[in-house]
Amino acid sequence: MVDNVPDGTFSQKLQVPEALTFDDVLLRPKESRVEPDDADVSTRVSKHVELNIPVLSAAMDTVTESDTAIGMAREGGLGVLHRNMDIEEMTAEIERVKRADELVIDRENVVTATPDQTVAEVDEMMNHEGVSGAPVVDGDDTVLGIISGTDIRPFLEVGESDLVREAMTDEVITAELGISPREALELMYEYKIERVPIVDADDTLVGLITMQGLLQRRENQAAAHDTEGRLICGAAVGPFETDRATAADEAGADVLFIDCAHAHNLNVIEAAREIKAAVDADVVVGNVGTREAAEEVVDFADGIKVGIGPGSICTTRVVTGAGMPQISAVAEVADVAAPENVPVIADGGIRYSGDAIKAIAAGADAVMLGSYFAGTEEAPGRVITMNGKKYKQYRGMGSVGAMKSGGGDRYLKEEEEGEEFVPEGVEAATPYKGTLASELHQLVGGMRSGMGYVGAATIPEFKERSEFVRVSAAGQTEGHPHDVMITDEAPNYSPDS
Ligand code: 5GP
Repeated sequence: MVDNVPDGTFSQKLQVPEALTFDDVLLRPKESRVEPDDADVSTRVSKHVELNIPVLSAAMDTVTESDTAIGMAREGGLGVLHRNMDIEEMTAEIERVKRADELVIDRENVVTATPDQTVAEVDEMMNHEGVSGAPVVDGDDTVLGIISGTDIRPFLEVGESDLVREAMTDEVITAELGISPREALELMYEYKIERVPIVDADDTLVGLITMQGLLQRRENQAAAHDTEGRLICGAAVGPFETDRATAADEAGADVLFIDCAHAHNLNVIEAAREIKAAVDADVVVGNVGTREAAEEVVDFADGIKVGIGPGSICTTRVVTGAGMPQISAVAEVADVAAPENVPVIADGGIRYSGDAIKAIAAGADAVMLGSYFAGTEEAPGRVITMNGKKYKQYRGMGSVGAMKSGGGDRYLKEEEEGEEFVPEGVEAATPYKGTLASELHQLVGGMRSGMGYVGAATIPEFKERSEFVRVSAAGQTEGHPHDVMITDEAPNYSPDS
């Protein structure tokens, strides 16, 4: 470095601080009594929303629609629905997630029978609706009984043309809203029944709990639920899309993500403040990559999302010359957010579970991934085969294709009729990987092991206790499999990811 560079010169500008990213650092191993399986990975994604695993799926049209969001929440994380769909589609997607593992099926979604239907009619109706039993209600929705496949098949004691009122079980066990899953299960075991109609004080049907629904919830003990016991769901909204934000909020989204590639734009921040004032849901603001940007939003954001150009499909840094290596960006933002108790999300550039846990050590509370999940069964898009290998499409939201179907406002670009977009992302294919649950198992398993190496039993403790060492180019080579020919791909390592 040249000494005696005069202040205020261009030369002085070149006396730059260093910014680091994932491959530049490693966690320093420390004394530990923490077994990876015992590490508690629960965290917060925003001020009021907790997760059981610190992982989010990206708001991209090749990553997160309702199937991915349901899968993420069932595993304890959060899926963020993309916004390359109109507002009605988005609210329908949010409602799908919210309904997926509901304890009580809402009245409007309960299949019911009437006492004057014939047994044959009810049998056909239940087949058609894919249910094996139905509460029987009169015109006022008063519950009179319950009819199930076993009451009517194989038509031994009842004829096909008999009426439901004769065939139904009329000593029906009901419960009121507020019943816990455990109480519902106990009722079902005690009376050997598979469904409990939920009624109000006048015996009017308001919902239904089924054994199948309860068992599904049991399978996902670690699922992330809202206060009403429904799966949680995130939704991306443009910084200037107040309509989408209020609609998503009303549809039940738990966290809204202001979806912008450069949230340190002051117009974006003003618009984000307006959205925050208009909704009940938590509002995460992003993306930012510096402490100055974090300072501008920390007073109103419920979470801050970090990432300027680290994404696998992103060309922001090469196209615009701007960006921040991700580990330094996360640390700068966390320096500002952590004292204010505002969670930080590290978004983009994570290829391995080791990258994810390094992001947490740098100060993030949770991580968001795109490419890692784009190849799963749940991600939108179909499987394609090239040279005998299976792939799924994965494209940047700033790629030409995605901007054509959604618009360029994430990149603060006006849509001019007939004008070419200046993209900040590419369209690609990613290897097909199987289920989201197995990908998450590998990702979170690796993160837990990282906590074991550092000797931290919880995420907050890990953030405190972890230390980094700097890795040289030689150290980086040493850290990957080397001097061997890999014969079997490991489920959590691919040399070319
Ligand atoms: P990945 O996990 O694939 O490395 O990164 C995913 C993240 O990249 C997304 O959550 C989003 O923040 C960012 N991203 C998505 N599409 C684009 C794009 O076209 N350009 C840029 N600059 N970033 C993108």
